[in-house]
Amino acid sequence: MNLPGQADTHTPLFPKPATVAQPTAAGIVVLKRDREVVVDSDGALPTIAVCHALGIPLREIILAAEIGGVPCYSVQPPPPEMELPPPLQTTVLRAFLNRQSSAWRKVIIRALELATWRNEHRFCGCCGALMQLAPADGSLRCTRCGFESFPILSPAIIVRITRGDHEILLGRNRTFTPPFFSNFAGFVESGETYEDAIRRELQEEVGVEVTNIRYFGSQNWPFPHTLLAAFTAEYASGEVRPDGEEIAEAAWFDVRSPLPPIPQPGSISRAMIDDFLVHSKQQTARIDRQTPS
Ligand SMILES: [Zn+2]
Repeated sequence: MNLPGQADTHTPLFPKPATVAQPTAAGIVVLKRDREVVVDSDGALPTIAVCHALGIPLREIILAAEIGGVPCYSVQPPPPEMELPPPLQTTVLRAFLNRQSSAWRKVIIRALELATWRNEHRFCGCCGALMQLAPADGSLRCTRCGFESFPILSPAIIVRITRGDHEILLGRNRTFTPPFFSNFAGFVESGETYEDAIRRELQEEVGVEVTNIRYFGSQNWPFPHTLLAAFTAEYASGEVRPDGEEIAEAAWFDVRSPLPPIPQPGSISRAMIDDFLVHSKQQTARIDRQTPS
């Protein structure tokens, strides 16, 4: 069995969500509490058997994914006032996700996002009647008017801005705890393309224009259901002016010198910064080779 944190040897399967009457005892349960996730004393996600043995109420169990033959269940969390019986405890979700392999990260995020979607769509937004899971297509369907809701993803962008071969513009978000510097991110507004969102966010947050926008990759971000599209861009013009609301501080950093605290490995933001560090080193090595000694 491939456990979270181990190398990926299996590709996750994402079946349509369906209510599970009798979950497999060895199946894994993803339980979120605020911005934390429930784990056992080893820091691993608990199984159905462990939850049952400890009397954890598992509400609205649906099959979120299967990986290496192990089912992973999405469950509504226990009531907030319920104290977790030892050895169960909570751990910070963001750091927990950064420790997972890519495949397990996807599985866990899917389970979390399905639980959030179900919880936020108990009643129809059109007529107020109860919504019910429709296993055929994985939607929630209104029991009165037939309105359908599918699992929700909110598109957002994150962009790395560089100037030349060694400088990167990083910002410190007012809400980051502990404080650290990162690339710039924001949600895509209705009617916008990714490129529009990048240009608007950068104008609003730091007052700069960029050019040469290139796709880098994407990552799911379950706070609560964001699909983050990552791009690189080159600085074009403008004086860096943090907006003081979202961005408390922003500055150019020369990556040949030590950087301030930056996102942990595992995040796409960190991957983009690391990618630029490699680029900078390669450019330095290339110039060193060309310089006659
Ligand atoms: Zn309805």
